[in-house]
Amino acid sequence: MDNLTDLPNSDGFFGEYGGKFVPETLMHALKELDEIYARLKNDPKFVEEIDQDLVQFVGRPSPLYFAKRLTDHYSGPQIWLKREDLNHTGAHKINNTVGQILLAKAMGKKRIIAETGAGQHGVATATVAARLGLECHIYMGAADVERQSLNVYRIKLLGAKVHAVDSGTATLKDALNEAMRDWVTNIEDTYYIIGSVTGPHPYPMIVRDFNAIVGRELRKQSIEQFMQYPDAIVACVGGGSNAMGIFYPFLEEPNVALIGVEAAGSGLASGKHAAPLNDGEPGILHGAKSYLMQDKNGQVVDTHSISAGLDYPGVGPEHSNLKDSGRANYIAVDDVEVLSSFHLVTKLEGIMPALETAHAFAALEHIAKNYKSNQHIVINVSGRGDKDINTVATMDGISLD
Ligand SMILES: *Cc1c(COP(=O)(O)O)cnc(C)c1O
Repeated sequence: MDNLTDLPNSDGFFGEYGGKFVPETLMHALKELDEIYARLKNDPKFVEEIDQDLVQFVGRPSPLYFAKRLTDHYSGPQIWLKREDLNHTGAHKINNTVGQILLAKAMGKKRIIAETGAGQHGVATATVAARLGLECHIYMGAADVERQSLNVYRIKLLGAKVHAVDSGTATLKDALNEAMRDWVTNIEDTYYIIGSVTGPHPYPMIVRDFNAIVGRELRKQSIEQFMQYPDAIVACVGGGSNAMGIFYPFLEEPNVALIGVEAAGSGLASGKHAAPLNDGEPGILHGAKSYLMQDKNGQVVDTHSISAGLDYPGVGPEHSNLKDSGRANYIAVDDVEVLSSFHLVTKLEGIMPALETAHAFAALEHIAKNYKSNQHIVINVSGRGDKDINTVATMDGISLD
């Protein structure tokens, strides 16, 4: 078997997953992107420019923080937090957009497009486009425009145009469809910044590589702060970019357990969830083969999650391969568990996690008991919860008007 870190292969496959299942018009653009990226990722000037942006614009490295009261609460393993919520714009998404915007610049593209769910990727994209003075269009499901109004306004303030998408469930997958359609139409001058480790090759690889800074920092910080690699790393999984970014540098460390947490929504048994790795089948969506929520006829089914950022029927192909190979494990937690975890972490640690991130915290209820007090679990705190306060208030039956 190939080393997991050597994937994808040159055709963009992670085992049987991935690839590029796209129309001919996109094939050329994907090939061009693949070639430019292969050249630039080893170009010392390009690497230096990204490193400098990560330090000076994003605010890296993000701290590895010991969560004392959460540790006391579970009275099991030591719980540590990788603080991606402290990044500029409040989530891990900026790690990817600062990288991809430099690819767009190198390719001479003047127009930037992106899809967004919770709005975090839209904000992160509009932010880097503003900084480089590039025209920017963000596609967002109409339902998400509604529940993430604060991020919609942030995107507009940054000078980008928000396109509300009404088709389907009017959520992330529909926004992705529209963005792909725009890209096909405007391929000459447009760069598409995909926001997760999804889509056709080379995107899952590129987005993973730009997020892998998180796992690389953790390798160093864990040795410095507790003199070993973590016993387990836990991250929420929507498309899977924050999880892939922190998992990737540990794929060849067999003693580090990798645990992904999907959205069980109203419960796996209800069918109203967004957990393709727990309750899906392989299929093709948005240009790649991966686990997918589909019905008997292969139609993509509607998803549900309390968090817009996880409300997606597919998942990045590399995660599908990690699941089948057994290198990572994927569990799912439901909306009720997530809400109670959000309150717990906020009260115990003074850190208000994004609802996406609260899925990773909620996993502690299931797994903390499996670890001893001399062991270390790292939670990837993918983002901060400011954007979710309206949702939490509504769930708690409180009106903020
Ligand atoms: C977008 C988002 C996610 C989900 O996306 P992944 O690609 O799975 O990481 C998770 N957490 C936060 C805070 C997000 O904004």
